[in-house]
Amino acid sequence: MKETIKNLKKVYKYGKQYKSSLIWQIVGCVIGIIIHIVFPLVYAKFVVEFTTSIWEQAIYMACLMLFINIVDRLHTVLIRKNTQIFRRGTVRNLQKSLGRQVLSLEQSTLDSNSSGTFIQRLISDTDKMSSMFTVGMGELTGVLSNIGSFIAVFIIDYHMFIYYLISALVLTLLSILKSNKLAKKDIEFRNQSDKVAGLTGELVRGARDIKMLYAKDSFMEELDNNIVLQSERNFDMRNVDIFYEFVIGIAKRLFEFGMLIYLIYLIRNNVLSVAVALALYGYRVNIMADMMGNVSRLLEESKNFNISCNRVFDIIDGKKFTKEIFGKKHIENIEGNFEFKDVCFSYDNKNQVLKNLNLKIDANKTYGIVGKSGEGKTTMFNLLCKLYNCESGKITIDGIDIDELDEESIRGNITIISQNPYIFNLSIKDNLRLVKKDITDKEIEVACNLACLNEFIESLPDKYDTVVGEGGVTLSGGQRQRLAIARALIQKTKIILFDEATSALDNETQNNIQQAINNLREDYTIVIIAHRLSTIMNCDNIFFMQNGNIACEGTHNELLKKCKSYKELYEYEIKEKAD
Ligand code: ADP
Repeated sequence: MKETIKNLKKVYKYGKQYKSSLIWQIVGCVIGIIIHIVFPLVYAKFVVEFTTSIWEQAIYMACLMLFINIVDRLHTVLIRKNTQIFRRGTVRNLQKSLGRQVLSLEQSTLDSNSSGTFIQRLISDTDKMSSMFTVGMGELTGVLSNIGSFIAVFIIDYHMFIYYLISALVLTLLSILKSNKLAKKDIEFRNQSDKVAGLTGELVRGARDIKMLYAKDSFMEELDNNIVLQSERNFDMRNVDIFYEFVIGIAKRLFEFGMLIYLIYLIRNNVLSVAVALALYGYRVNIMADMMGNVSRLLEESKNFNISCNRVFDIIDGKKFTKEIFGKKHIENIEGNFEFKDVCFSYDNKNQVLKNLNLKIDANKTYGIVGKSGEGKTTMFNLLCKLYNCESGKITIDGIDIDELDEESIRGNITIISQNPYIFNLSIKDNLRLVKKDITDKEIEVACNLACLNEFIESLPDKYDTVVGEGGVTLSGGQRQRLAIARALIQKTKIILFDEATSALDNETQNNIQQAINNLREDYTIVIIAHRLSTIMNCDNIFFMQNGNIACEGTHNELLKKCKSYKELYEYEIKEKAD
């Protein structure tokens, strides 16, 4: 109960703007309670008049009952309409906030959880939470209205009121037991559903690779095992449900039987007239069945609500999933220098990827980084953008520790053009607009020209309005990279990091891009991770990485003289070209 109230307060913040709908719901609820007090009294009066042949009065009471029933229907419409307004608004605000929070989680947290963990919370849990305000509110109205019925019974006869009260307490206790058991099973079920949702997402996104790997059977086996586990968890829940429904059903019948015996006893002792006893017995279904149904559904709903709230607020409050932390310092006009000082880093606290790395980059110069695959080159870029945090040592931008800088000063000034840039399922124009809302068509054209993309775009039927598919699936690797380059050029970030960005391009396009990079040279700080030395030979300085550190640095000619591994790499490349 305490937990539900705490969570309701939290969720209310997201639906505050729809307060008036909530007030109408409460008004509807009060009308419901009044109806449930008045109706049993009118009904009892009707039965008495009916059984004692006072026909005119009986007809009058029947009309009154019809009127109350119509008001009851109207108040139901009032509640349903307003709960929908409140529910829709709250879900929208919750999903918006949750989406933003997912984007503020630490990258390592995102890496170590399946995508299903977040997708399920974003779509399914927010929806389940909001149903507390529709289904839950309906059940609460039912419970409160039934309290009205109890008051009516108390007015008619207090003996029967006590009997109803005891029955209700026992049945409520059984419902609490049921919902507690169900909640435990539900948590297990939802965790398993997260896994299935994650794997299903991968099935769609990775369909191409699954086909090419000829791994349909083994992937489907993995998915199938998880689906079986999911349905087992679901079956466990249903079993608990069936068992308790049976026990509660039997308890209800026993109470009904007891009531008959008790009524006979009360009539025989002249405590009740037959007519009133009949009215009370006739009304038992409304009170007992409604009340118990309402209580058990409300309990179930609030358990569901609490589970979903905990899953959602685990992200929003940053309790279970760690959020990124940024400093407050802001760089107004960045120069574009950065430095790694004794930086150590590992992804898993075991295998050190960077070992006391020292590296100094000056503004408006162009640098190259070479080294074998897995040496930690991309990791350096990730740390500079604060996607991960250094274990020790520090990274500075314009002399300021990035731990002290705000998000905009870091990510608003750096672009990474990666090996496999993510292009969104939007038109080419909208993909570019993502980084600059008020971009003009002219700017788009200039950037695409510089990135050697114009010719390709002009060949498309919808040109800049062509939608490129999820992850830019309809584009080739080279086209995706060129679009990413155009995106960076539009964003005009002072520091541009190329991560083997030109590896997927043919020689001609690569030359064009090389030219584009050359155009940027004087005004931007450029760092290029490259496989092919030809890409970086003209850089102002080249770093050769080995064992998570810089083995040597210098210009191309200097490295040929002083770095044996670099020289070997260069000779290997020349030989490969000659072959
Ligand atoms: P490079 O760019 O030099 O090829 P990376 O920086 O990509 O190397 O990777 C360095 C090491 O870190 C590799 O051993 C790689 O397996 C590991 N690694 C890279 N990314 C992750 C990650 N997200 N989680 C765990 N390990 C990672």
